[in-house]
Amino acid sequence: MKKHYLVLLVLLGSYNLFAQQPSQLNSSQIYQQLEKLDFLGSVLYVAAHPDDENTKLISYFSNQIHANTAYLSLTRGDGGQNLIGSELREKLGLIRTQELLAARKIDGGQQFFSRANDFGYSKTPQETLEIWNKEEVLKDVVKTIRKFQPDVIINRFDHRTEGNTHGHHTSSARLSLEAFDKAADDNFASAEAKTLGTWQPQRLFFNTSWWFYGSQEKFEEADKSKMLAIDAGVYNPLIGISNSEIASHSRSQHKSQGFGNTPVRGEQLEYIELIKGEIPTNNDVFEGINTTWSRVKGGEKIGKLVDKIKEEYDFTAPSKSLRDLVKVYQLIEKLDNDHWRTIKLEETKNLIAACAGLYLEAVTQSALTTPGETISLQIEATQREAIGVLKEISISNSNFKKKFTTTLNSNQRISLTEEFTIPTTTPYTNPYWLEKPSELGMYEVSNKVYIGLPETPSTLKANFVLEIEGLILNFEKELVYKYNDPVEGEVYEPFQIVPAISVKMGKPILIFGNENSKVLPITIKAFSNNISGQLKLNVPKKWKIDYTQEDMRFSKKGEEKLIYVTVTPPHEGSEAQLEARFITSEKEYDQHVVEIDYEHIPKQILLEAATAKLIALDIKKKGDKIAYIEGAGDVVPESLREIGYQVNVLQPEQITLKKLNEFDAVVIGIRAYNTVNDLAFKQSILFEYVNQGGNMIVQYNTNRGLITENLAPYALHVSRDRVTDEFSEVKFLAKKHPILNSPNQITSSDFENWVQERGLYFPNEWDKEHFTPILSLKEKGESWMDGSLLVASYGKGNYIYTGLSFFREFPAGVSGSYRLFANLISLGK
Ligand SMILES: [Zn+2]
Repeated sequence: MKKHYLVLLVLLGSYNLFAQQPSQLNSSQIYQQLEKLDFLGSVLYVAAHPDDENTKLISYFSNQIHANTAYLSLTRGDGGQNLIGSELREKLGLIRTQELLAARKIDGGQQFFSRANDFGYSKTPQETLEIWNKEEVLKDVVKTIRKFQPDVIINRFDHRTEGNTHGHHTSSARLSLEAFDKAADDNFASAEAKTLGTWQPQRLFFNTSWWFYGSQEKFEEADKSKMLAIDAGVYNPLIGISNSEIASHSRSQHKSQGFGNTPVRGEQLEYIELIKGEIPTNNDVFEGINTTWSRVKGGEKIGKLVDKIKEEYDFTAPSKSLRDLVKVYQLIEKLDNDHWRTIKLEETKNLIAACAGLYLEAVTQSALTTPGETISLQIEATQREAIGVLKEISISNSNFKKKFTTTLNSNQRISLTEEFTIPTTTPYTNPYWLEKPSELGMYEVSNKVYIGLPETPSTLKANFVLEIEGLILNFEKELVYKYNDPVEGEVYEPFQIVPAISVKMGKPILIFGNENSKVLPITIKAFSNNISGQLKLNVPKKWKIDYTQEDMRFSKKGEEKLIYVTVTPPHEGSEAQLEARFITSEKEYDQHVVEIDYEHIPKQILLEAATAKLIALDIKKKGDKIAYIEGAGDVVPESLREIGYQVNVLQPEQITLKKLNEFDAVVIGIRAYNTVNDLAFKQSILFEYVNQGGNMIVQYNTNRGLITENLAPYALHVSRDRVTDEFSEVKFLAKKHPILNSPNQITSSDFENWVQERGLYFPNEWDKEHFTPILSLKEKGESWMDGSLLVASYGKGNYIYTGLSFFREFPAGVSGSYRLFANLISLGK
């Protein structure tokens, strides 16, 4: 897929460590960065998910105030929906991580994360903090504060409310509030306090809005004595764009959530309410905080010199500032303050590079390479202004080093081709937080140094040592892959290290509803030339696995081979894991190289274990022909086919009594009565089908935006009742009812191993005379809910309404969910 690199990526010239294309600043952008060099203050914005952040404020503080600005998103948004592809859970979290980075490249902020996992919707902060490891997430927030040293923290959410927003949201505000004090306490995470030092932020705000008050009117009447109003729509003539326009472009990077955003110009007030610290008298969040160079010991003369550079700055010849910038660099080197020295040296170095029109890159000939492989590196060094000397090029974590005494004359391109052997010790590219299996609420991170970082830092970097105006500088650049596309032109991609062989199971889960065998395709792909070996599979106890084991040879990188494995389940119910590995004379490969490729983010690599779950259900079935009427989209039809049902998907226009009578049951897809308008006119036919002896099963619909009031043949009212805890207690109300007894005897063990939730949008009122509630469900701290599974006889048939999340449980292979659903289909047979 082609990457369209927006001009906007370099609009603000933010220096992103992970940008693949070297940034090139124009003269206005250089001036903006000079202003940033002259400001020593920091703002940290805190919320729970990618897309919670207010890009207007992040851009405002970064580009208007010139503060060091960052967003700490506690999670990576694994629990969200994906509107651009099929990736879910950790793969979606990876996409959303990159969307945040793409947003920050535009608004100029930095990005941090904690180890908290977005496990899905949570009703209360209490539940959230129980599932997350509260102490560990708090430590991560404290670590970010100690490292980033914000003067001001801004929470997206209100720590005082609960129940009216996602539990993750309120938790993010409460953890931030607690971390505000804990970061300054050297007894908290004391080992880290010693290495990082403690830090006391000065103010904490809550980024309120009318939304938190219910209406614009109520917000207008609210007491604003503790609030500051910031015009986030302010125009920036240096770049010819207003802050809200930058913020919209940034927000539009959340493409997997469908958050494309059209900018609004003109004044736009953002309100922040003071929670901790002293109220500023002048609408300035930094009031009373020294944000000038005199903040650091020895900084005063640097400040004076930076002011001089700004005053004398020539927009037609930025290189005139080089000499003074070199002096600034040398003065900063002498500062005692580690924090500001590190930040300001990097800023100054990048300014020197920009003023000299420096272009440095080390380009590989392919995007994916394996450890031990020798590749050709195309190295470019071009300087457009002034004179520098290229002294050395080396690659970190390798013995590659070349010395030079090459003068970089004005606008002369130096281009070299070098052979480089990837050290065999180079780790594979893989997100650090996904290296180990994670718990429901937390990622397991073994290398503690990485905690907080948005991605795994690359170990292979090209270091260019240059002498500019007598100063020796080291410019670190990631190795990148670049090629020319006949349509797009120059295309950049990340350079990534992968295993030589990838093994992909055709399906992550194989579910058997009877004793028939199934065929599982396995794809083996080479990422290196000349590899041969054999594929080996484990044979789980009682299972039969048939395939021909033979020598396989891959002569070319990119070559794929497909083999078919026949899997036969045992006679009784059983769960097992099928593991595949490719064995060469030197190594074993047991991972699948997953590539995630979208236009708005760099290509992502993720390594997954080459395993498939095998599930032989202990299930009995009556009736086998099912009509499925699709709603918002779910994999229920495929799942039912997997276990041996014959499922026909019917379009609304195909719903006739004659047609329906061919089936043992009609199943309605999730949210069909929210999304399929034509269904409103088919209810009478569906009910008549039931009346004549049919079986109709309706899955959940949301209570808002229903296309009909006649959801059922009897009164039924859908509410927002839901049980998000997948481990929650289940009580059997109608113990004798066939749904719990025939043909499968349902017991509490059928409610074990459910995933994500029990169900949602349960009815809370129904015709008591006709509907029988089958189950009662309870979420901690709430009362019992009886509406998750309701059955009514109607004429000779049965109508069933269920908010249980079969659509989530089926693809996860939850045996009990299949057994219960088989009973729903069998009802009356
Ligand atoms: Zn959120």
